[in-house]
Amino acid sequence: MPSDQPPEHRPPEHRPPEHRPSDHRPQAAALPEEGRPPGELLAELARLRDADLPVRGGQVTAYVYDTGREAVHDLAATAYLEMLEVNCLDPTAFPSIVALERRIVAAVADRLGGGSGVFTSGGTESIMLAVKSARDARPVEGTPQIVLPATGHPAFHKAAHYLGMEVVQVPVDSSFRADPAATAAALTPRTVLVVASAPSYPHGVMDPVPEIASVAASAGVPCHVDACVGGWVLPWLRDAGRDVPPFDLSVPGVTSLSCDLHKYGYSPKGASVVLYADEALRRRAYFAAAEWPGYTVINATVQSSKSAGPLGAAWATLNAVGARGYRELAENAMKSAERLIEGVAGIPGLRVLGEPVAPLVAVASSDPALDVFVLADEARSRGWFFQPQLSYQGIPPNLHFTLTGVSDVEPLLAALAGSAEAARGAGPPDVPSGLADALADLDLDSLDDAGFAGLLASVGVDPAGDGEPEMAVVNTILDALPPATREALLIRFLSALYA
Ligand SMILES: *Cc1c(COP(=O)(O)O)cnc(C)c1O
Repeated sequence: MPSDQPPEHRPPEHRPPEHRPSDHRPQAAALPEEGRPPGELLAELARLRDADLPVRGGQVTAYVYDTGREAVHDLAATAYLEMLEVNCLDPTAFPSIVALERRIVAAVADRLGGGSGVFTSGGTESIMLAVKSARDARPVEGTPQIVLPATGHPAFHKAAHYLGMEVVQVPVDSSFRADPAATAAALTPRTVLVVASAPSYPHGVMDPVPEIASVAASAGVPCHVDACVGGWVLPWLRDAGRDVPPFDLSVPGVTSLSCDLHKYGYSPKGASVVLYADEALRRRAYFAAAEWPGYTVINATVQSSKSAGPLGAAWATLNAVGARGYRELAENAMKSAERLIEGVAGIPGLRVLGEPVAPLVAVASSDPALDVFVLADEARSRGWFFQPQLSYQGIPPNLHFTLTGVSDVEPLLAALAGSAEAARGAGPPDVPSGLADALADLDLDSLDDAGFAGLLASVGVDPAGDGEPEMAVVNTILDALPPATREALLIRFLSALYA
């Protein structure tokens, strides 16, 4: 497809993104000869953030977690700064990082069935380490495999990609839960890890952890529970008297578990814990290198030099909020989720997918005239961000809502209802016929970043543009494509974005 496609091929309802005067494109690439004044630099940072989604308040239903307790966030920022320049590279040089990590890991293990663990930079790194441990604990003939439910997080695909492994994906049942029988059938002599989610991110539903762990245990294979999003909300919901099925390290057969403190722990980003039932498995996460003439490397994580800021902030946040605080925050978030579910039932054309056990809700359309991607754009123009999720293996496209301690669900429901009505009025997006097929056949390797950006411009997307792009056309096109083509296009999008 030519990059200078004539405008009449544009989707008719689409306006090209407005060009505002933007700070995103620097005038000159080189550094200033004389350092610029702090006030000017900070003002520029603040201006750059103007186009960002807000990180506080309940208008963004993904990515950000707000307690609504200003003092907690202020304390976290101060604690982060206190530890900012401490380097986690060498725990013998900075004993404070050992003390903080031991305390954080012990507090997390105390709520999640025991074990010992590692503080990491996020869910992806926790999962990477759990996968590495499993791979190294059980050498197999050929490429090692991870058996993963279809709803399992992409971090496992990423770990497999980085660690020279394969994912064997298992379809979920009609309520989006991992299927123990299908999991058992997927095991091979090359399986080194079986995964269950508590809950899975897309729909907030809980996999049957005891059954999956038992399938793994009978085959002598480790089982990882991905409690990245649920690990610091489910125990508090149970504490508050709710019925939470067993999912943690106390379940027989579960050998490791990931829990992100930068989600429902409300810590600043860069905070997660991976727990291991067995200390020998934990040691498989570690890495040492003495094969060079420099300092001897001993790392517990993927990163080597890294700031202790997230560690200090996570410790401060955990202790400032306290058990009662987490129970309250978890209850508030779950009540918001329940009210959202109830409210969606009253909005014509919308329905909730599955039965969430945690405050994560997926909302799909039950009316062909009501397109969820158009709904998301309508919501965005009203100041709300609802996260689009593409269709996959028969699961329809939908919008994801992560409810937090600060979620104010009545205005959210009003925005959802108003956006749904507007989306129904607008109808599904008008995608040029044959565009998805043309993209699927496109030889991406023949296009450079500029050529790809031109292609995007022809469907009205400006990768470097700020403001509120109309994403419905893009999402509809991606939704029509097979996952491998989605991935190839998204990698090119990222490349064009940063070019
Ligand atoms: C967020 C999440 C991850 C990945 O975590 P990051 O912190 O984004 O790296 C993995 N699994 C689940 C279920 C998640 O919700």
